Amino acid sequence: AAMREEKIKKTKTVCTYCGVGCSFDVWTKGREILKVEPQAEAPANGISTCVKGKFGWDFVNSEERLTKPLIREGDLFREAEWEEALDLIVRKFTEIKEQNGPDALSFITSSKCTNEESYLMQKLGRAVIGTNNVDNCSRYCQTPATVGLFRTVGHGGDAGSIEDIKNSELVLIIGSNTSESHPVLSTRVKRSQKLNGQKVIVADLREHEMAERSDLFVRPRAGTDMVWLSAVTKYIIDQGWADEKFLKEKVNGLEEFVQNLEKYTIEYAEKTTGISKGNLIKIAEMIHEANSVCALWAMGVTQHLGGSDTSTAISNLLLVTGNYAKPGAGAYPLRGHNNVQGAGDFGSSPDNLPGYQKVTDPEVRKKFENAWGVKLPEQVGMNNHEMVEGIHEGQLKAMYLKGEDMGLVDSNINYVQAAFEKLDFFVVQDIFLSRTAEFADVVLPASPSLEKEGTFTNTERRIQRLYQAFEPLGDSKPDWQIIIEIANRLGAGWAYTHPGEIMAEAAMLMPIYSGVTYERLEGYKSLQWPVMEDGTDSPLLYTEGFPFPDGKARLYPVDWTPTLEFPIEYDIHVNNGRLLEHFHEGNMTYKSKGISSKTPEVFLEVSPDLAAERGLKDGTLVRLTSPYGNVKVKCHITDRVKGKEVYLPMNDRGEAAINLLTSSYADKDTDTPAYKETRAKLEILSEE
Ligand code: SF4
Repeated sequence: AAMREEKIKKTKTVCTYCGVGCSFDVWTKGREILKVEPQAEAPANGISTCVKGKFGWDFVNSEERLTKPLIREGDLFREAEWEEALDLIVRKFTEIKEQNGPDALSFITSSKCTNEESYLMQKLGRAVIGTNNVDNCSRYCQTPATVGLFRTVGHGGDAGSIEDIKNSELVLIIGSNTSESHPVLSTRVKRSQKLNGQKVIVADLREHEMAERSDLFVRPRAGTDMVWLSAVTKYIIDQGWADEKFLKEKVNGLEEFVQNLEKYTIEYAEKTTGISKGNLIKIAEMIHEANSVCALWAMGVTQHLGGSDTSTAISNLLLVTGNYAKPGAGAYPLRGHNNVQGAGDFGSSPDNLPGYQKVTDPEVRKKFENAWGVKLPEQVGMNNHEMVEGIHEGQLKAMYLKGEDMGLVDSNINYVQAAFEKLDFFVVQDIFLSRTAEFADVVLPASPSLEKEGTFTNTERRIQRLYQAFEPLGDSKPDWQIIIEIANRLGAGWAYTHPGEIMAEAAMLMPIYSGVTYERLEGYKSLQWPVMEDGTDSPLLYTEGFPFPDGKARLYPVDWTPTLEFPIEYDIHVNNGRLLEHFHEGNMTYKSKGISSKTPEVFLEVSPDLAAERGLKDGTLVRLTSPYGNVKVKCHITDRVKGKEVYLPMNDRGEAAINLLTSSYADKDTDTPAYKETRAKLEILSEE
């Protein structure tokens, strides 16, 4: 029979590769992707994209896509029909709940999935099963930043828009490799440097591109940012450069804060951080001279024992200098995944219902109980980190995890994978058979963004719609549909037929999303939360005060937590982070030919000094061994890194997977792993 001629189709979508939230049109013919075409009206990116957004999509047609549910039989999987897989899940969930109580189950959503899917996942855990054991992978990256902002300014999101960064006279970039991790956002800064004379200060271990382009680059010792930030803040106050008017009118807690700062002298900071006195004073002077300062930060700040406190110190510094509630100023934690912000917004955490409303607040629970017609659990649940412990200790028996390769991206993966082995029942929902899925009892085939509708919320709190470019591959289904089927088999009676209905329900329950509707997000239209009922949104936060009872922000005293100590033989500090071309463990990008051919493998960046000391060359194969495991990787000699700092990109799935080295130690306030506090010894395996 004659094949039906496939029509060329244009679909608006939102990139899934980072929190910048670029949107663009994808041109397709059948399942073939013809091109990605950015549009001027795209709010976060206009006509720009980076290499991942432009070329990173052919994984959707990879032969390795999961197209059928899989059920474990001994050491192998066999393909199954949906009926059988879903029945098995429902039978096991019910059994485990009856025998061990609801808190023996756990639910992990993905910050790659849509807002609606995260909403349903936490609702399944809370309203259908009855547990707050709900989390998502922002536990691995950005939760400390959110905590730092809640402590000081009251909203867990960027203070302004990406667009607004151009109005800033000084941009502080701390622990963020912005040009590789948030490429399109970094081009905004580069343009403002050129056009507006915007100044940039970079504090990082590694001399990456933004560091090279900065006006001042400082290299604090790993994990000491909190100290220099506090010393600079103290120096500014001591010089009489604080914004007295702003502090008086808009901020509480100055006295106690100043007392606590006492020990953070410039001398102490110089000794602890290794940044020279001259440069510390120069940072203070540059902040003082700028009329507007914004601070961008990422995992170099958050993935430490004191990650929440350092995030808090950044916000304190901005408050002292009056750098909130005006254009070009404020805190910009740069969210990693496309929907880290949204997953948090929609209640994917053990302590918050959607809209950052506390599970422990009886009034909040009553509101959700009335809407959902159930009784909700009252205790804070387990976060990802506690779940791993909970499995090892025998309390947690089952896990339903979607879209996250937790067995590769959590820290100390030998320990995490050993936990998976102990689970009585493990459901993994993904688009590929990830490393984590190999441990599952049932694997459910999900659909990537191009095969579904929904919304994402990017790093600037901007909510955007994505549309379906083509049907799910094989028997795979969008995550929201799978969750509904499981919930309804458990007796939930959910009647959603479209993600728009899920958003309508969520908006009724979440004050910061109250005016969000699919109509208001049609096409390239977008909204930045908080969104009022009449649809007014909030590009710039705090102009009407801070969301605390008296409308004032709070200076929040914090102290430095020294970094992890290691036996002396672990003499190499293993820094880690992204590569431009790859996304996390690379499940998607290694399957995109245009990308994987450019950067087929990761390499270890080694300084010329260390190379000379140990006789390393480009291509030398080395083994790094930490107290938790070892990796094998080839060296690349570069002066981006210094001394005994090495840099291992996090994008490997095999023998060079960074989390074979990392520990289970974590930020004391959020349990975000201290990935950046990793040390190892180095030995040569073979010359190239
Ligand atoms: Fe995608 Fe981020 Fe690149 Fe934009 S900058 S195209 S959102 S990866």
